[in-house]
Amino acid sequence: MKQRLFTPGPTPLPEEVRLGQAREIVHHRGKEFAEIFKEVRQGLRYVFQTEEEVFVFTASGTGAMEAAVANLLSSEDRVLVIKGGKFGERWAEIATAFGVQVIPLDVKWGSAPDPGLIKKKLTAHPEIKGVFTQLVETSTGAVYDIKAIAEAVRPTEAILVVDAISGLGAQFLPTNEWGIDVVIGGSQKALMIPPGLAFVTLSPKAWSLVENSYTPRYYWDFKKVRKALDKNQTPYTPAISLICALRESLSLIKKEGWENVLARHARLAEATRRAALALGLKIFTKVPSNVLTAIEVPPGINANELRTIMRDGYGVQVAGGQEELRGKIIRIAHLGWMDRSDMVAAIFSLEMSLSKLGYPVTLGKGVAAAEEILKE
Ligand SMILES: *Cc1c(COP(=O)(O)O)cnc(C)c1O
Repeated sequence: MKQRLFTPGPTPLPEEVRLGQAREIVHHRGKEFAEIFKEVRQGLRYVFQTEEEVFVFTASGTGAMEAAVANLLSSEDRVLVIKGGKFGERWAEIATAFGVQVIPLDVKWGSAPDPGLIKKKLTAHPEIKGVFTQLVETSTGAVYDIKAIAEAVRPTEAILVVDAISGLGAQFLPTNEWGIDVVIGGSQKALMIPPGLAFVTLSPKAWSLVENSYTPRYYWDFKKVRKALDKNQTPYTPAISLICALRESLSLIKKEGWENVLARHARLAEATRRAALALGLKIFTKVPSNVLTAIEVPPGINANELRTIMRDGYGVQVAGGQEELRGKIIRIAHLGWMDRSDMVAAIFSLEMSLSKLGYPVTLGKGVAAAEEILKE
């Protein structure tokens, strides 16, 4: 059976990307790679919507999160961490591991933080060095109002650090225009390449923190990366094949156009939400992202059974809930290399599987609701 991934990372790969990755290896200090890397740097600035450099690390997204903490902060520094799900918790865990003092802003899972509250915390604690947040909290499907958060942070001494690993390239995030200091991305989400690359971009305000941080670091040193970029290189051997794949995906994004890519995600997300509602299901969050749709599993239905039937019966693989949401939600991604027909397949499998489990659905109702949004 044909298998389709609807997980919020990894995501499916376009053929151009798979072929780009399959090419013969080139040397990373040679002329051929220099041309590829130059193009990739340009493409990344376009996707991040920034004039600043975007650093490329060989790691999954979490590597870049850790690198940000290690380069921006020192032990005993204080940070404000938005904790509204598993990835917010990850920020707190990384900071704590480096001896950084975390002031949590606890947000009910599925909700978004109140920018006014962030402003209050920053006023009460002027020593806060940075606000650490997600763009999309992938564990709940919620999208945060980064524009308003950036407005709250900008007039203060603190910097804003956004984990946009799932949202980058799916959700409107003009880094420069909104004055976001640090944006972090990953490869296996909207960028449509396999896991293994992580990205960071820094504002001049963020660089002043890097200058003052004394946390030990070697491989993850932002200053070394910046220096190597003067020669259009990375300090150590990069994941050459992934960078070749990235060149292809960035070229696809450029061809479609950033705004159009975002509009496609918005439309697929809206269709998925409408389908769920038409089937009598509930969306978990009131601030749903365009990255994924978190759907509450109705009473009497076992989430694991539902996901198993979707996968084994229809070749549709979706994600379950994490931690406190385990068994309570399923998460259907509409992320990266996805189109209308993909989403109809996902909704079809959801209807069929629910019906098999005895949940009362009128077959076709979800698909019909989606089609209303997807039709020309
Ligand atoms: C996927 C993801 C990460 C990174 O996970 P890795 O497994 O390290 O790539 C971090 N934050 C968010 C919001 C994510 O969606």
